[in-house]
Amino acid sequence: MAEKIIMKTPLVEMDGDEMTRIIWKMIKDILILPHIELKSEYYDLGLEYRNETNDEVTVKSAEATKKYGVAVKCATITPNAARMDEYNLKQMWKSPNGTIRAILDGTVFRTPILVKGITPYIPSWTKPITIARHAYGDVYKNVEMQVPAGSKCELVCTDKDGNEVRELIHTFKDSSGIIQGLHNIDKSIESFARSCFNFALDTKQDVWFATKDTISKKYDHRFKDIFAEIFENEYKEKFDSAGIEYFYTLIDDAVARVIRSEGGYIWACKNYDGDVMSDMVATAYGSLAMMTSVLVSPEGVYEYEAAHGTVQRHYYKHLKGEATSTNSVATIFAWSGALRKRGELDSIPELVNYADMLEKATIDTIEEGVMTGDLMSMSTLENKRKVGTEEFLVEVGKRLDKYLA
Ligand code: NAP
Ligand code: MG
Repeated sequence: MAEKIIMKTPLVEMDGDEMTRIIWKMIKDILILPHIELKSEYYDLGLEYRNETNDEVTVKSAEATKKYGVAVKCATITPNAARMDEYNLKQMWKSPNGTIRAILDGTVFRTPILVKGITPYIPSWTKPITIARHAYGDVYKNVEMQVPAGSKCELVCTDKDGNEVRELIHTFKDSSGIIQGLHNIDKSIESFARSCFNFALDTKQDVWFATKDTISKKYDHRFKDIFAEIFENEYKEKFDSAGIEYFYTLIDDAVARVIRSEGGYIWACKNYDGDVMSDMVATAYGSLAMMTSVLVSPEGVYEYEAAHGTVQRHYYKHLKGEATSTNSVATIFAWSGALRKRGELDSIPELVNYADMLEKATIDTIEEGVMTGDLMSMSTLENKRKVGTEEFLVEVGKRLDKYLA
């Protein structure tokens, strides 16, 4: 076997929970450690250790990501009432992803992994559509009221000198009704725009952005203006030399164009649009288990993970000693994405090549008919075989060894 690849800067490694934690170790043992002298700074974000450290480990892992620039994260439990009992928690700790995102101020990009034999519900989508969802404000930080008939509702803004500006929302004469207050922050929209443009340059794909600015002439229009301004001032030349484009249109027009497209671009969405459209796009491509996710900060810090959760149901089977067939593809791609980025930043071509070969070996395994249970019913391949969680990784490993030899 060839010599192991040496890394320069450590990769921030965030371990997680349940079935994905089992897969995490298998991926390292079977696919990574035989080929790479892995240099990682390890943070255990498993729920037990988060509880033990009062969730400080999550904050530390995010700070390390800021310092080193690249992280790979395993899926983690976001505690709810049931988990409080199950893990005997001191507190209902917040979602680690939320904590990390708040520290990195990032945008999440979700990209489907396409394989032959699994045709998207929209057959013209031959390339992936990456959705970028703005993760701050709008209806997710709203204030709303039910108001009785006879109410007069106004929007009031008091500036720092105490001056008031008022605008009538509606006078509810003979019917009760509802009102809602939304906000967003220029700084957050700017970060969102920069993350999208950086990721576009990184992946050499166009950016599409859409709002309803014809109707929302101040609110949505502000999004449009901020994107346009940042693009013109900071990215236009870089896009020109990379041969990619920034394209703005109305949200309804965007939806129509997306359906007719062949994919291969980044679709930047306002918070609500991203919530709704990411579920549509993920479903249309087939499976959450085949969806990668990367958090990109406006400064260009990257955190890679799978889009799915900890696959709890499979974990309980695993604990009972039953055979599992859990799909590890998205977690493998989280590792390959992070290692490739580390290789690019540190100029280690062998590491970039390793990442390419790891992804190729994974896709080839499925396209040669070896797959986990979730893909069996979806794949139209004729000769296919269901394998267990570990056997799938061993099959990928065989191909990887060949490609790297
Ligand atoms: P989930 O873990 O994504 O699993 C939901 C179901 O989808 C599974 O039961 C399984 O269906 C299928 N599935 C998902 N990933 C799969 C894979 N890799 N291979 C095969 N099947 C897969 O979602 P959840 O059950 O709602 O959440 C479980 C835990 O994950 C929760 O504690 C939640 O907080 C956490 N979570 C974490 C993240 C994150 O860290 N990014 C994201 C979402 C959820 P079948 O059971 O029918 O086989
Ligand atoms: Mg949603």
